[in-house]
Amino acid sequence: MSHGFDPDMIRIAASSNFIGGRRIMGHAAKRPVLRPSDGFHYATLDCASAAQVEEAVNDSYNAYRHSGWAKADPRDRMRVMRRWADLIDADMDHLAPLEALGSTRNIAEIRAWDVNYSAECIRFFAEFIDKVGGEVATTTPNKLGFTITEPYGVVAAIAPWNLPLVMSAWKIAPAIAAGNSIVLKPSELTPFSIIRLAELAIEAGLPKGVFNIVQGEGYAVGDPLVRHPLVGKVTFTGSTRTGAAIMAACAETGPKPVTLELGGKSPQIVFNDTADLDKTAAIVAKAITLNAGQVCVAGSRLLVQDNVADQFIDRIITAFKAHRPGPTWNSDATIGPIISEPQLDRIDGMVQRALASGAEALSGGSRAPSPQQGSFYSPTLLSNVTSDSECVRDEIFGPVLTVQRFSEEDEAYAMANDSRYGLAAGVHTGDLARALRATRALEAGTVWVNRYGRSNDMILPTGGFKQSGIGKDLGREAYMANLKSKVALIEF
Ligand code: NAD
Repeated sequence: MSHGFDPDMIRIAASSNFIGGRRIMGHAAKRPVLRPSDGFHYATLDCASAAQVEEAVNDSYNAYRHSGWAKADPRDRMRVMRRWADLIDADMDHLAPLEALGSTRNIAEIRAWDVNYSAECIRFFAEFIDKVGGEVATTTPNKLGFTITEPYGVVAAIAPWNLPLVMSAWKIAPAIAAGNSIVLKPSELTPFSIIRLAELAIEAGLPKGVFNIVQGEGYAVGDPLVRHPLVGKVTFTGSTRTGAAIMAACAETGPKPVTLELGGKSPQIVFNDTADLDKTAAIVAKAITLNAGQVCVAGSRLLVQDNVADQFIDRIITAFKAHRPGPTWNSDATIGPIISEPQLDRIDGMVQRALASGAEALSGGSRAPSPQQGSFYSPTLLSNVTSDSECVRDEIFGPVLTVQRFSEEDEAYAMANDSRYGLAAGVHTGDLARALRATRALEAGTVWVNRYGRSNDMILPTGGFKQSGIGKDLGREAYMANLKSKVALIEF
């Protein structure tokens, strides 16, 4: 069934900030927002002024102190969050095209996953509200020692553009479930769909001010937000460079706790005992072409055992060449656009430098022809690269896969771990003992065996090692990261 839509039929409201339960027009500069699928200037973003960032945080703090959300009966809080999730599901016909319009996600994927998954994430974190809290400690018998969990107050969240609704839901849901208020700054490239979530939260009964949104660029809006003295915790998803700047800002103005979900350069290791090379090739190809490679956990480094390498590489080339690029509103497209022309130039620059220094493009290697003016890149497979090549070391954030060969198992782990990143890793093998050795040996926050990518099991946390981040999204850990623990010791 086709879910395509006409992008010109979608209207974007003029005011894009959300403070105190309603849309507010930003008072700072305006910025054009383009559709990556065709480069069309479809809306203008009204950025928040410094005074409005201040207002949003103060309002959020006021809601934390006085709205009753943090102190509400846990079951009442759960009911509001469940109602909110139901409203999101019911808003599919409005929300899905809005998300697809200005992002890189195809409408079919958004309808099949992003909207319902974001709603389910809200339900998932609501379930912790009356089930997870402090603990009674074992002390000497004349005392009672226990911990109580309390919200931080105002949580500042900064989101990236690559999956706008889902990445924001990962931040908003645990923070609000835990009783905090939140001020979110979405990416300036994909600012609009998330406002709908805030409107639905109010409709569900979330008190005004518990979820505020300020819009604009990182340096002008994100930086003062994370530095604000009333912000008790910061949670960020984005590049490693921005994450480090945010951590420094938090140290200078707090210190305050930070959760950082950052970049990656994740390996996919294919051993020669992999049972089904066709199936594995489909998994490996999808892991770097999903969302045109603009996924933090994109499997961007293929490490393949030398005696199956040629046949495996042929399968990857076939899979790459079968892709049909197309706009996000065409549900038949199999690969979407790159978020912006500057980002496409960055990807192409890295590919051209790799080719100039001896790499070979076995597939792709240039921008993809597109019927409109959109920013599309051909799925690219680069061979003749080494572990110190820029294209192997640095995150490209596009549909570009490098391939290197290995002969021994330990060599594969050494190559996989030779990276400043440690977000995820994939291993394909038919040998259970090897699979277990790999999960121990690989320096990554997540190791997938004979699959690549998350399941819908939100109980499994996600987060990076090394320069891929600090702390976790999802799982019990993300809920607990939005609470601080107070100790009580009573003597009698
Ligand atoms: P980015 O770092 O450029 O921007 C992310 C957000 O930070 C945006 O909202 C931006 O406006 C804001 N920002 C920029 N400078 C800031 C500052 N000084 N202070 C406060 N906020 C600031 O990242 P991006 O290009 O939007 O997203 C792509 C990156 O995100 C990739 O590196 C990708 O790997 C990473 N990512 C990681 C995960 C994960 O879970 N680990 C998930 C998705 C994306």
